[in-house]
Amino acid sequence: MDNKYLILITFDGCKAEILYDLIQKKEMPAFTEITDGGIFAENVVTIFPSDTMPAQVSIVTGCYPAKHKIYKNMWFDRTLQNPTLRAYTDDVWDASRVYGYDPYGKFPNLIMPKWDGGFLLNNDLNQEVKSIYEVLNQKGLKSAVFAHQFSKGADFYYPPSRKTSIKFVLQDKVLKTGKYGFLTEEVSKNATSHIKTNGLQSFSFIYFGETDAQCHKHGYIGLKRFLKNKIDPEFKKITKLLKSKKLLDKIDFIITADHSQAINKLGNWKIINKTKLKKLFGEFEDKIKITINKFEEEADLIITMGVSTFIYVKNGKTKQWKDEPDLECDILPIAKQLFLSNKNSSDGKYIDLIIIWNPLLKTHCVYDENQDIIPVEEYFKDKCNIYPLASERLAGKGDFVNGDIILLSNYQDGFVLVEKLEKGEHGNLSILDSTVPLIFSGNGITNFVKPSIGKAKYLRIIDIAPTIASYFGCSMPTAEGKSLIG
Ligand SMILES: [Zn+2]
Repeated sequence: MDNKYLILITFDGCKAEILYDLIQKKEMPAFTEITDGGIFAENVVTIFPSDTMPAQVSIVTGCYPAKHKIYKNMWFDRTLQNPTLRAYTDDVWDASRVYGYDPYGKFPNLIMPKWDGGFLLNNDLNQEVKSIYEVLNQKGLKSAVFAHQFSKGADFYYPPSRKTSIKFVLQDKVLKTGKYGFLTEEVSKNATSHIKTNGLQSFSFIYFGETDAQCHKHGYIGLKRFLKNKIDPEFKKITKLLKSKKLLDKIDFIITADHSQAINKLGNWKIINKTKLKKLFGEFEDKIKITINKFEEEADLIITMGVSTFIYVKNGKTKQWKDEPDLECDILPIAKQLFLSNKNSSDGKYIDLIIIWNPLLKTHCVYDENQDIIPVEEYFKDKCNIYPLASERLAGKGDFVNGDIILLSNYQDGFVLVEKLEKGEHGNLSILDSTVPLIFSGNGITNFVKPSIGKAKYLRIIDIAPTIASYFGCSMPTAEGKSLIG
């Protein structure tokens, strides 16, 4: 039990085959070295939607979004006294506060002073859910977290610096130089200096956030190039230090990603932007107030757009957001209109599936091609090869997943519900962006997880935190995933 060390590494938006291939062909030598003799798992599934923030939080809590309550990169909290929109990646205030900064302040911290509220994702987490750091803490084990968006309970936390945060936020929108790597460099700098100063903690989490942007912009080629040319050399600096301290052989590793990305094989994606999306509502567009990606009290529908677009429907009778909408009066008429517009669209079917919340059954249902309402468990039971673990990911463990109507982009025919055209996309229920790498390496872990991995048809990212807990001899009762050890 003494001197057990585990390092978790997560790449943002990474396809398993690409990473495995690079490592096995020794094109990422630092990673080839640490994964020698390791297990490269297949069929590892993320949560729904395959968005960064909910998935990252699922990795460290072992819960589905329905339980940890970080539902989507952008989601609407209708349960609060003052309903609010959360936009962790789109809104400058929310995006800054994830890392504990405020976007504007007084002199001398004109840009991005510290936010006195802490860290946004830590605050938004369902407080009944425990993070892996909190679980390890109870046993006196310490954790260090590098660049991740979530850090609740970690003993050492190194968010990106103010300068790096600003650069990262502005990179795509303003600077447009396409130059990435500065965040990765900072991660390796922080990790090495932490190890030099404070030693290696029992558990470390190293998050590489820039891979996702590469895949969005350049597709798999960009991802491959970045893993090979930037991540591996920077990571090498960490392993070199660990080796010099005679620690590398004693460390076990888990390597994973939050989601993958779908690349449109037909050429460019055909995007359904806000204007096109509004048109799908037909006559409702004039009759009711539809608001996209912002909160307005008087709105009847609030939409958070994305590859999975979530539609929140106001209760038509009470006109209160906190009241659940009625299936017959509020949800079904809109679902029907969307179904007909999609079916009759002249340039192809934008939407793959329309999923509705059924308040009577307390579960999500598919509004299918016959306009029948089929519970997700039944609808998806034979479709695991297209939508892996779909019913479990949609329904959680009986909690409300958020979103009264969910539209899934029709990847198959090249459609995505987004505002801006990019090469890669994610956020769906589809297998194209829902499976991730998962590597276990090091003698302290591989033998123990082998039997579970051999038996399971699918592994889940929610199994990672409970596995880490039991690796250290702890249990994680608030997690929904299962430990792969024992
Ligand atoms: Zn991501």
